[in-house]
Amino acid sequence: MESDQMQHTYIPPKNQPVRMVFILGNSYSGSTLLGFLLTSDPGIVFLGEIKSNVRRDKQLCSCGQVIDECTFYRQYVATFRALKESAFKKIRYFSPLRFIFRNTIKLDTETLSHIRELHSSITRRVADQYPDAAYWVDSSKSLWLLNAWLQVIPREEIKIVWIKRNLKSNIASFLKRGHAFFPSLLGAMLNKWLTAKFLSRNQLESLTVNYDHFHQHFQKEANTLSLFLKREIKLPTHDHHNHHATSGNSGTRKTFTYPFHGFRADTEWETVLSPWQKKITSWLD
Ligand SMILES: [Zn+2]
Repeated sequence: MESDQMQHTYIPPKNQPVRMVFILGNSYSGSTLLGFLLTSDPGIVFLGEIKSNVRRDKQLCSCGQVIDECTFYRQYVATFRALKESAFKKIRYFSPLRFIFRNTIKLDTETLSHIRELHSSITRRVADQYPDAAYWVDSSKSLWLLNAWLQVIPREEIKIVWIKRNLKSNIASFLKRGHAFFPSLLGAMLNKWLTAKFLSRNQLESLTVNYDHFHQHFQKEANTLSLFLKREIKLPTHDHHNHHATSGNSGTRKTFTYPFHGFRADTEWETVLSPWQKKITSWLD
């Protein structure tokens, strides 16, 4: 047992920088769940979507505490909010369409220095609280933010994971949250196309993970993730308390305050989509 564990446990070199995992993908494609699954390795710290605003001090963090009692945010949230505000004020509303004709959007010196400051502040906070951390995970998914991170962090320090989900389930999730069918469909398809273009034009290495495989073939996805990150990703059996997400689906977040009960089959689209919506999504997927 002991030699078995030795073989599979990756021991990071001391004093290595804590690198970033950036999750790309459409909204409602399972990125929050993926972030939690990565924390089955205690050397990976999941922070949810860095782009999202931390709204209230009584908001629930995935660690099970409200923000002003959470060990990660308690004495950090004011700094974190202020740094994010300066870093994102000029770039948050970039239209994704700006990436149609460009590889990258160059940022001004002031914005770059704020982004750099935000990145080193988060990295320091993670390293202080988790001395053995190898990665922290940002599940923001947005190209404008990856575009910004790439201008202040060396490429080899960002690992990009793209989560994909079948169009029927993805669109059903949009509809459940009150979005209209056609704008959701158009947005999802455009985002997928732009993401592929951004990665290939910038010659970025990335790993694609398929949400549709989680329920029945999670081990396969876990193995490719383990190889890509050189860590040990598996089905979470117990909580290492290495996640502090305040963004994403609150139901998903709450699930992770309890022991993990496994995946549910992703079949809700069958009752959510109407017959003609099913037809259109089948044509396009
Ligand atoms: Zn927390």
